[in-house]
Amino acid sequence: MVLRIGHRPQRDPRLTTHLALASRALGAERLWVHPGDPELEERLRSVAREWGGRFAVEAVTDWRRAIRNWNGLVVHLTMYGEPFERALASLPPDVPILLVVGGAKVPADLYRLADRNVAVGSQPHSEVAAAALALDRLTTPPDAREFSGARRRIVPQAAGKRVRVRPLGSP
Ligand code: SAM
Repeated sequence: MVLRIGHRPQRDPRLTTHLALASRALGAERLWVHPGDPELEERLRSVAREWGGRFAVEAVTDWRRAIRNWNGLVVHLTMYGEPFERALASLPPDVPILLVVGGAKVPADLYRLADRNVAVGSQPHSEVAAAALALDRLTTPPDAREFSGARRRIVPQAAGKRVRVRPLGSP
């Protein structure tokens, strides 16, 4: 699960869409977004209709409460945190993880609310890159993942594009 706080629907719809697409493709079950963004939710529903899987974007009205109520570990991704390799290797196995990423400015209390503050390198970059790298380590490899109910499936090719399309109405 990924929680994105500080989303600005008017200013960064594309960035948060990329965060949602990367989270979906790389193994997250959900993206919680604060504040909510119905257009983003619909965009990802449409992706799921075509490309399968159960990933969804959901609005979170009180992100602090969502963090406090999380039944597992809360890992805040921040360039100020402890080194990624060491931190991820030390996480207990089989515990649900909530990855939290920020936007332009992260409220200071997030550092205390999180169980761990983890840096993917100690340089500023992006919430999409940080979440993608963390998910890559925490979930199964993308090629092994099944997106059930897909209408479109890519048939991987070394060259060119091949897509298998299931006709509408067929099982
Ligand atoms: N100066 C901002 C702050 O208050 O942390 C940086 C915001 S950055 C544009 C947006 C988000 O990207 C951050 O909240 C964090 O989740 C993620 N991020 C950026 N660089 C990171 C890094 N080196 N390691 C982990 N996460 C990072």
